[in-house]
Amino acid sequence: MFVSPGDLEKYAFCPLSWWLSKEHKIVHKEGVKHHKKVGKELQEIKEKEKKVKFYEKYILFFSVAATIVAISGIAFLYEEIQTFWQYFFVTLALMWLLVSAFFLYRATKVVSILKPKYEKLLLLSSMGAILIAFFSFLFSSPANRDMSLFAEILAIIWIVVANLLFYRGMYLSDKIVEKKIRYIPIKGEIEYIGSDREKEIISEKYGIRGKPDYILKIDDEYIPVEEKTSDLQSPIFPHVIQLTAYCMLIEDKYGVPPSYGILKYKNAEFKIPYEKRWKEVVMQLRKNMIKDMEKGIAHRNHNNPKKCARCIRKEYCPERLS
Ligand code: SF4
Repeated sequence: MFVSPGDLEKYAFCPLSWWLSKEHKIVHKEGVKHHKKVGKELQEIKEKEKKVKFYEKYILFFSVAATIVAISGIAFLYEEIQTFWQYFFVTLALMWLLVSAFFLYRATKVVSILKPKYEKLLLLSSMGAILIAFFSFLFSSPANRDMSLFAEILAIIWIVVANLLFYRGMYLSDKIVEKKIRYIPIKGEIEYIGSDREKEIISEKYGIRGKPDYILKIDDEYIPVEEKTSDLQSPIFPHVIQLTAYCMLIEDKYGVPPSYGILKYKNAEFKIPYEKRWKEVVMQLRKNMIKDMEKGIAHRNHNNPKKCARCIRKEYCPERLS
């Protein structure tokens, strides 16, 4: 049987409050509005960042292509400079070959963790070799002024396109920067938004299913974030339980446990470490909750009138203390 982190939060406050919530649904208009706003803004950031990344790829492509075409244009211009360039490229090709041979040799010796680095270097080195071969061929060709003119015009057009994409990317980045600071640390990116469009995360291992408000990817870690509209100055137990349940979902989904989760209140933010002791409390609460479901009733588990005083279900609670 699956339980949700939201239900665990209610149960952690008072089992009877959770039980009553099934019959008496209370919609927190402010909360719903806030979560909708958060989801919308995060979606906007995600889409714009996707576009910026797309532009960055094409900026790189057009800039490199324009440079290659511009150099090719020069190659077709003067017959007299060709001999010099032919020697230049032959020397460069030999040096390149030596460097590539060195990387190839090193790649066979390094420990497996460094292999991807050397594979990248080998790939770059092969691309460099292709470029050298291409330029050697061009500089050995007879002079052709029309061809040179065509290449230079093409290079200018591509550079203009790269600049336009650059300004468009800058404009989009500027538009989202303020919102981004509000939600995401500098090194972070949005991995998941718990809006209507996203699928629920299900953990068969822990018997929990639900949607965190959002998940950030920070330094190769997946960090759940829970936004609350309350103006608390320190985290409370039910919220820590809910966040821990989200950490458990993430642990099962990505195969790596997050080291912490983030609780955000109106004016304060807390990093809550993902700890074994909280995990055990979540599992115990889940067990008790299932037992209560089977019994068909839940009861108050505390003697704290202050708790009842601030309980949103006290009006129709048969066991309230105040
Ligand atoms: S009023 Fe008290 S006993 Fe009743 S649900 Fe709320 S906290 Fe529990």
